[in-house]
Amino acid sequence: MIVIKIGGASGVNLDAICADLASLARQGQPAILVHGGSAETNEISTRLGKPPRFVTAASGFTSRYTDRETLEIFAMVTSGKINTLLVEKLQKAGVNAFGLSGVDGRLMVARRKDAIRVVENGRKFMLRDDYTGKIETVDARLLALLVEQGYLPVIAPLALSPEGDALNVDADRAAAMVAGAVKAEKLILLTNVPGLLRQFPDESTLISHLPAAGLEQALTFAEGRMKKKVLGASEALGLGVREVIFADGRVENPVQAALAGKGTVIS
Ligand code: ADP
Repeated sequence: MIVIKIGGASGVNLDAICADLASLARQGQPAILVHGGSAETNEISTRLGKPPRFVTAASGFTSRYTDRETLEIFAMVTSGKINTLLVEKLQKAGVNAFGLSGVDGRLMVARRKDAIRVVENGRKFMLRDDYTGKIETVDARLLALLVEQGYLPVIAPLALSPEGDALNVDADRAAAMVAGAVKAEKLILLTNVPGLLRQFPDESTLISHLPAAGLEQALTFAEGRMKKKVLGASEALGLGVREVIFADGRVENPVQAALAGKGTVIS
């Protein structure tokens, strides 16, 4: 099994990814797709008159502050638009894709971080009523049910709290949890850079191989949202995934190239 995550960053070649998934499906290679939607949520929420608010946690990580209205916009964009249109594209390419989010059938259950400790302009305070979460369980049985019947699951980054609230979850870390739960051999994170760069944005500083032990140091030169990918890689390896590959989603055969070892291979 391979798990592939596609980012919402611009430039990613969705047609090429779908074509690659179709040829993998023809070869009988099972796969699961996880997607994000951060960039598009920013754009649409701004158009709706509710510009995104990003907050930096005391731990240094940045995340979207998700009040109830933001959660609803996030669900509309990721589950409603991005997921449906990805399934449409895959169906057009001949893949029997099945779209769902972590809310469906309690696929992903997350612990809600309803109050987050944030730092803004040097001031520390608690932000409440946040609908984000950290995934704790993924129902591998539900995914196996779909895969065994020949469907390719396409997962939107929403989870359910134990109390039944829908939550916004980070798609990179969701992909890592899914890969761990289904005991995937490989997790491929496709984005708009060639891989992990030692000196971002200098593409000549691409790290082609990183041992798991180097992940902690990688957190120091991964900036912004790249930090979440490094964290996801570490979580996936910890759950028994053999290889995590950060690869370029803008190229002609992005999945094939990643499987051939192009990008940053972490093992
Ligand atoms: P996606 O939406 O595709 O998941 P993100 O925008 O979350 O992508 O993360 C990828 C981005 O991370 C790159 O476009 C790049 O701007 C940024 N980045 C920060 N630090 C690094 C680094 N060290 N190596 C590569 N990319 C980095």
